[in-house]
Amino acid sequence: MSIFSNVDDKHVPFYRIMWVASVPHFCGEDDCMAEGKYEIRLEQGEVVWATDHERDAVLADLERWQGGLETPGEEWES
Ligand SMILES: [Zn+2]
Repeated sequence: MSIFSNVDDKHVPFYRIMWVASVPHFCGEDDCMAEGKYEIRLEQGEVVWATDHERDAVLADLERWQGGLETPGEEWES
């Protein structure tokens, strides 16, 4: 599978994602462009903003990606 996830028209590599917000952004500023979007923090302090649909897709992709990495450990046990 791809190592990139689509967020806000950008291809974000999974390994650069530090964390994903669980609640939508709210700061109350009138000119805020990120209102209601979910913050995805990348390495080096970069941020991309995801819609709820994009965030769900990123989390699902991340889980599958991590699951793939853990496969050698699972083979050990059997
Ligand atoms: Zn804001």
